[in-house]
Amino acid sequence: MNFRADIDFAKEMDNQDELVSFREQFVIDDPALIYLDGNSLGRLPKATIPLMQELVERQWGQTLINGWHEGWLGLQERIGAKIARLIGADGGEVIIGDATSVNLFKLAWTAVAHNAPRSKIVTDDLNFPSDLYILQGVARLAERPLRIQVIPSPDGIHGPVEQLAAAIDEDTALVALSHTVFKSAYTYDMTAVTQLAHNAGAIMLWDMSHSLGSVPADVHAANADMAVGCTYKYVNGGPGSPAFMYVRRDWQDKLHNPITGWMGQHHMFDFDLTYEPEPGLRHFLTGTPPILSIAAIEPGVDLLLAAGMDKLRAKSILQTEYLIYLWQEWLKPLGFSLNSPRAAARRGSHVSLGHPDGARIAQILIEEKQVIPDFRQPDNIRLGIAPLYTSFMDIFEAIGRIRDA
Ligand SMILES: *Cc1c(COP(=O)(O)O)cnc(C)c1O
Repeated sequence: MNFRADIDFAKEMDNQDELVSFREQFVIDDPALIYLDGNSLGRLPKATIPLMQELVERQWGQTLINGWHEGWLGLQERIGAKIARLIGADGGEVIIGDATSVNLFKLAWTAVAHNAPRSKIVTDDLNFPSDLYILQGVARLAERPLRIQVIPSPDGIHGPVEQLAAAIDEDTALVALSHTVFKSAYTYDMTAVTQLAHNAGAIMLWDMSHSLGSVPADVHAANADMAVGCTYKYVNGGPGSPAFMYVRRDWQDKLHNPITGWMGQHHMFDFDLTYEPEPGLRHFLTGTPPILSIAAIEPGVDLLLAAGMDKLRAKSILQTEYLIYLWQEWLKPLGFSLNSPRAAARRGSHVSLGHPDGARIAQILIEEKQVIPDFRQPDNIRLGIAPLYTSFMDIFEAIGRIRDA
C-alpha cells in the first residue's frame, strides 16, 4: 500500500473500509476526543446499554432468584462458546471464569502439579507483570522446589524465541507466555512455540489478553493446551469484566482446580459435604459468578463475530502500517523510536513509540490535545488500534497532534 501523509488519504481509507459501519455500534460521546487506549479498556457497545437495563430491571428486578435457572447458571459456558469461535476452540473448551490473573493461577498451578517432578517454569521478561507475580505465587505454593526461568528479550521488543528454544527442556513443567505482549505488541507464533514446549514434554499456557479480538489465533491448529485472556480490552466487555479460560478437551478431566468451590462441584445443588469435581470445564469455576459483568461481555463478542477475525486483522495491519508510516514521516525526525516489531506478522494491534520525554508528551496529549494514549514507564507511548472503531482519521489526527505536542 502506498500511503500518503495528507488528510484526503485518511478520508479515502475510511471510505473504502469494509468495517466502517461497526464504529456506529459504539458510544462515542465526544467526537473530538481520539481514543487510542482500547487495548486497556475498550469502548462501550451501544447494545450493552439496553441489555444492562433488561438485566437489572427485568431479570434481577422481576425474576429474582429464578434468574439462576433462567439463564444465569449457564451464562459462563454460553458466552464462552462464542469466544471459542474467535480462537478456534470448540464450545465446551472455553468458559468465562474469574480475572485473567486468577484464571492463570488456576491453570498454571494444575499444569505444574500434573508435570511433577519437573521443576521449572519458563517465561519471558516481556510478559505482563501480574503473570510473573502469579507464577511466583504458584512456585511458592508448589509441593516441590520450583524455579522460574525468565528469558530476557534481546531488545525489549521481540520475543526471545531462540533463547526459549534452548531453555525449554526435560525439566520444564510449564511454558507460560503472552501471545501478544503488552509493551511492544510482539506476537509469538503460537504453533511454533507450542511445538517447542511439546517437544520437551512441557505444558503450554498462553495469555491472550492482548490478542483476543484483534489478532486471530487458532488454538486447535496450534495444539495449545490452555489459554486465558481479558474481555475488557479488544472485546469491549466493560471495566473488570471477567476473563475466559480455554482448556483443550483431552486435558479437562486430568487437571485439577486449586480453588475448589461449589460452582465446580458435581451436582452442586445436592449440597454434598465432600468436594467432587464436575466433569468438563466447570470444575475450574469456584464461587458465584458476577452475572451483570459477565452478561456485559456478550455484545462485544457478537460484534467481533459479525465483523470476522480475518477482516479485523486485515484492517488492524493496514492501520498499524499506516501509523508507522506517519511515524516515519513526522515523528522519527523528532526523536521518536518505534518500539514495536516492524514486521506486521509479528505485531499485534498496538504500536509503541518511545521518546525520552514520553511521560511529558503523554501528559500534554491527555490534558491539551484530546488524545488518550496509554503510557508505560519509562518512555513508551502505546497507541492501541481497535479495528472495530478506530478510524484512519483517528490515526492521522493523533499522529499530527503528537507531532505538535
Ligand atoms: C491486561 C492483561 C492482564 C490483566 O489481568 P487481570 O487479572 O484482568 O488484571 C493479564 N495479562 C495480560 C497479558 C494482560 O495484557
